[in-house]
Amino acid sequence: MRRQAILVHQVRRPHQAPTAHDFAFVEEPVPEPGPGSALVENVLLSVDPYMRENMDAVWALHTPLEGRTIGRVTASRVPGLREGDLVFHRQGWRTHAVVTPDEVRVLPDVPGVDPASFLGILGGTGLTAYVALTRVAKLQPGEDVFITAAAGGVGTAAGQIARLLGAKRIIGSAGTEEKARRLTEQLGFDAAFSHRAGPVGDLLAAAAPDGVDICVDNVGGEHLAAAIAALREHGRIAWCGAIAQYNATEPPPAPRNLFDLVEKSIRLEGFLVRNHRDVQGELEGFLIPHLRDGRVVDQQTAWDGFDRIVEAFLAMLDGRNTGKAVVRAGAL
Ligand code: NDP
Repeated sequence: MRRQAILVHQVRRPHQAPTAHDFAFVEEPVPEPGPGSALVENVLLSVDPYMRENMDAVWALHTPLEGRTIGRVTASRVPGLREGDLVFHRQGWRTHAVVTPDEVRVLPDVPGVDPASFLGILGGTGLTAYVALTRVAKLQPGEDVFITAAAGGVGTAAGQIARLLGAKRIIGSAGTEEKARRLTEQLGFDAAFSHRAGPVGDLLAAAAPDGVDICVDNVGGEHLAAAIAALREHGRIAWCGAIAQYNATEPPPAPRNLFDLVEKSIRLEGFLVRNHRDVQGELEGFLIPHLRDGRVVDQQTAWDGFDRIVEAFLAMLDGRNTGKAVVRAGAL
């Protein structure tokens, strides 16, 4: 066991894309759990795009960062948490955390399911995709779906869930030809393209010449405009995120074709997964049988070693992940 805990602080506000110089690794003694709390050693840590948004103003400088994490209880002074329990909690970006039972979820031991999935397709990432399709876009069997950032965590979950819900054609955009190929060859997409291969509107029109009914948009900007152009009458956009603008210093202009929302009676609805936590049980009931029988794959890209967490975060923003980006600091 480590004798010193390591925590990551943000030490600068980034100008556009963040760099490793915006962070510092800070050592301090491993904290002692007081009465009513437990010590957790973090083993799997999530790096997420919303963290980039937090870097501009939300995160205080020179204080420990936070993020979704799975850890193992190594010492407990509270009845609800036992040594060896795997827990989900939000004190990420550090090797150790002191937690109370109300701050954690003790992860169930689900035969045939890797606990890492509770940070991926069974966690907030999968829940975002599931809510986008079932609650926001209200996908009906036989409908065609376009997913942006389709090779990422939310995107790979959304494609597979859309298939299970009976979508007809599923089209994805990703950052490289190789990722696009992975979508069609391994993840059940019917068509996919690299958004770097030309104007996104043209690429989508070629991949979906008859249009689509639904867009799950993780990117915004040119992707959102392309989706509006491709959507059929009464189409729906579940707007999850706008990663194309998270590094921008000014908000980008609205899509030039926004009035098409009126002309085609399209519904564009943004949402935050944290307002849909009540759907978690339904997500697990829906996906666990498919994870067990291999029909659904929890795609993850892991960086090994806590000291690589900044590298992993920057790489994820740069598109060097397929599926959920995580850091493996220990054995699950
Ligand atoms: P991803 O695993 O999708 O990782 C981010 C991906 O974004 C990269 O892999 C990269 O893929 C792509 N990307 C980066 N920059 C650009 C760009 N300029 N243009 C197009 N694509 C880009 O992350 P998540 O699955 O965790 O999140 C996906 C989106 O969902 C984000 O926008 C996030 O903010 C949002 N989100 C929203 C939630 C909500 O509650 N509304 C909850 C969780 C996530 P590539 O190189 O293949 O393009």
